[in-house]
Amino acid sequence: MKVLVINCGSSSLKYQLLNPSTGELFAIGLCDRIGIANSKLEYEIPATDFELEINQDLPNHKIALELVVKTITDKEHGVVASIEEIDAIGHRIVHGGEKFAYSVMLDETVLAAIEENNELAPLHNPANLMGVRTCMELMPGKPNVAVFDTAFHQTMPAKAFMYPLPYADYTELKVRKYGFHGTSHLFVSNEMNRIMGNPEHSKIIVCHLGNGASITAVQDGKSVDTSMGLTPLQGLMMGTRCGDVDPATVLFIKNKRNLTDKEMDDRLNKQSGILGIFGKSSDCRDMENGIKAGDERAILAEDMMIYRLKSYIGAYSAAMGGLDAICFTGGIGENSAAIREGAVKGLEFIGAKIDTAINSTRKKGIVKLSTEDSRVLIYKIPTNEELVIARDTYKIVNENK
Ligand code: AMP
Repeated sequence: MKVLVINCGSSSLKYQLLNPSTGELFAIGLCDRIGIANSKLEYEIPATDFELEINQDLPNHKIALELVVKTITDKEHGVVASIEEIDAIGHRIVHGGEKFAYSVMLDETVLAAIEENNELAPLHNPANLMGVRTCMELMPGKPNVAVFDTAFHQTMPAKAFMYPLPYADYTELKVRKYGFHGTSHLFVSNEMNRIMGNPEHSKIIVCHLGNGASITAVQDGKSVDTSMGLTPLQGLMMGTRCGDVDPATVLFIKNKRNLTDKEMDDRLNKQSGILGIFGKSSDCRDMENGIKAGDERAILAEDMMIYRLKSYIGAYSAAMGGLDAICFTGGIGENSAAIREGAVKGLEFIGAKIDTAINSTRKKGIVKLSTEDSRVLIYKIPTNEELVIARDTYKIVNENK
């Protein structure tokens, strides 16, 4: 079986062709700057390290996807002879609202139901749906499956997902915590459970730290709380997103600075986080280089990130009444020894002790970071959201046969 995984953003289209059973990756790539000048397609065959970059005008997603299909079926450097070899298409859909606790086969009714959530994720969902419609048009008859970022968190109890606002804001406007990065939290917590020998009961904290960052408490395989909320703005401090602030600051700054709604939204989503505090970049590597150079705002930014992360680890350990493992994933979680060490340093009182020597090596793959006498396991586990999407697609297609 070969599944094409599509992750459509407003100006990008990431794709992977893979075998959901073995995880074998046939091709991986990205169309960048769709609808903007200097658009291009990147294509890679991991088995042979073959790489190709095509600089071509990609005015819309349909033309971008046509180029993806043309490239993966190309006689010289393709990985399949024709699209007939592609069995199904799996789509990342950011917001499934309360309707979708599981992945689902896409049809017009499901598309309409997903569209109802567009206003909850205005930057992501319309782009995701455009990807689905384009695939349906270009590859008619192929099964398309939706895999939601929010689905894994639908197991949260009401006491965790409700905001203490007037109840009608929940019933009438669907305002509640939904959580995101669900496929990543699911993949990493499953891996951790597998490493622990699949115990009947487990208490795991997954820290997904990338440009976007969220942390999830996973008890007995189920998400019981997560740091992102109605939108992916709540929770941890991120690359350009502020995470938790007093809600009153929003109106205060907006009024004082005389900003429009859009300007205020941009301030919180695009000008805050690492970028807001450090000032020079939103990138963790730049911040860490700043720290080496003695930049005080870089030092403050990292201190804040670590402090907030540690506070969540403490809160979620308390919420679960204990802790068996802490896992780090995402670009920062997998690569920044300083953030990992900072986040767990001082947590010996809950039984978590990091081996600083192992933590600072650049070993790839799954790495155990806790000391032998640490009661709580600490692991670095590379995430693989595409594999979760491909596996779910395979499962749903088989169930619908
Ligand atoms: P992601 O969104 O998961 O791709 O993660 C992107 C973030 O990972 C950016 O902030 C990068 O600076 C960070 N990152 C990637 N490689 C490293 C590294 N070697 N050290 C520190 N941060 C890194």
